[in-house]
Amino acid sequence: MTKIYQNYIDGRFVENGSQELIEVRNPATDELLACVPEASPDQVDDAVAAARHAQPAWEKLPAIERAKHLRAIAAKLRSEKECLAETITREQGKVLGLARVEVDFTADYIDYMAEWARRIEGEIIPSDRPGESIFLMRRPIGVTVGILPWNFPFFLIARKMAPALLTGNTIVIKPSEETPINAFEFARLVNETDLPAGVFNLVGGRGASVGAKLTDNPQVGLVSFTGSVETGKRIMTAASRNLTRVNLELGGKAPAIVLGGADIDLAAKAICDSRVINTGQVCNCAERVYVERAVANEFIDKVTSRMAAVRYGDPIADTSIDMGPLVNRQGLEKVAAMVQRAREEGAETILGGNVAPTEQGYHYLPTVIVNCRHDMEIMRNEIFGPVLPIQVVDNLEEAIAFANDSDYGLTSSIFTRDLNKAMQACNSLRFGETYVNREHFEAMQGFHAGRRHSGIGGADGKHGLLEYTETQVVYMQHG
Ligand code: NAD
Repeated sequence: MTKIYQNYIDGRFVENGSQELIEVRNPATDELLACVPEASPDQVDDAVAAARHAQPAWEKLPAIERAKHLRAIAAKLRSEKECLAETITREQGKVLGLARVEVDFTADYIDYMAEWARRIEGEIIPSDRPGESIFLMRRPIGVTVGILPWNFPFFLIARKMAPALLTGNTIVIKPSEETPINAFEFARLVNETDLPAGVFNLVGGRGASVGAKLTDNPQVGLVSFTGSVETGKRIMTAASRNLTRVNLELGGKAPAIVLGGADIDLAAKAICDSRVINTGQVCNCAERVYVERAVANEFIDKVTSRMAAVRYGDPIADTSIDMGPLVNRQGLEKVAAMVQRAREEGAETILGGNVAPTEQGYHYLPTVIVNCRHDMEIMRNEIFGPVLPIQVVDNLEEAIAFANDSDYGLTSSIFTRDLNKAMQACNSLRFGETYVNREHFEAMQGFHAGRRHSGIGGADGKHGLLEYTETQVVYMQHG
């Protein structure tokens, strides 16, 4: 019997209001895993109403009490780590080792946000008047909505819910229709804690219906969205009708610059890992390389041998592989079409360049493309697959100019042993994050925020937490 999940609204799992169910399948085998509801418009409104009803009492709890609830949820997640990791792998396709890291990181992230309970401080501002005090308070926004993509589906629940709840907001989460099962399991575990009803709600469904309905609700104070640029623009347009705040974490096209004299083994490993982790479906990973001519051949040889050694397959059947399938057929077709167009534009595929010859699963061969030019689509648009395009450049200045000439502005990296050049790059690269001599991956205490079309606002650390607050300035005249 196929398992059918139910929406989680106001502290309980509710009968599915619409007849429509969404089938969730394993991208490695096409096996039907479960069905989730497409929430009815009334249920979407019920979830927001429940969050609104629960918010004032939740806000009144001392932050340290709210933090205890978060810690209880983190402990629940840890207690079912193995089973949650398998769920993520089955529906999303990442390798089991990475799914385990995702579960651990999610629990750690919730604990990290809980640590802020005693540290969110306001300000006392000097007044121009005698006998007056000016206080800047940090207040919750109210009801928040988290709309999620499929690539790190479990972690992204925490990235939105933990800072929202810690600061006194309530939340309604809508997972991606591609990977909702792990979110419904998350809700099951939340339900096993004594979190007050209505503080955390979960509704399943598609973006154009359930996502749009959530974004349009005037009771919602903040829509925190992670996903594609196109959807981000739609959400911003819909949110503008009620002047609802938005926090948008969108796509990326991260440049990696490799200079002469760099540790080429390190660069080749970090950049290869970037294209292989989560099958290249990571917003912040290196998506284009600018390598200085002096070390181009050495770098291309080393990165190509690493990519050639990547083993792919069904991550449940073989837990030792490096890479699983892409998330769905559209993802596979998009990657294949982009590589084909790159060839037509004059680039050369020196490794891979085709759909993998497997009987089932959406697998694409690890691919290295050289002779790329900056005007090619493959150097400008997000690929989201195990494909590495490389362009040779004459010097750092040229690399920086190409790197910055992009609609995207999420992450960037440079590999060099020259401190002056590293600093020059950090001062010139117009990106939310820059990694020097290391892989592209952020820390929970940093601030993950894209520029240009990569987003508005950010997540993580103190600055990410404050995105879930608004200010109130009190002017107190007291003699
Ligand atoms: P997507 O935009 O297709 O979907 C994301 C979510 O938005 C889904 O839940 C979907 O149902 C919903 N949605 C779709 N249309 C909607 C609408 N009109 N109104 C409201 N919600 C709607 O993105 P995806 O394919 O799931 O995710 C991949 C993208 O996410 C990539 O571009 C990737 O770079 C980006 N991403 C960015 C970050 C970051 O931190 N910047 C992190 C992970 C993924």
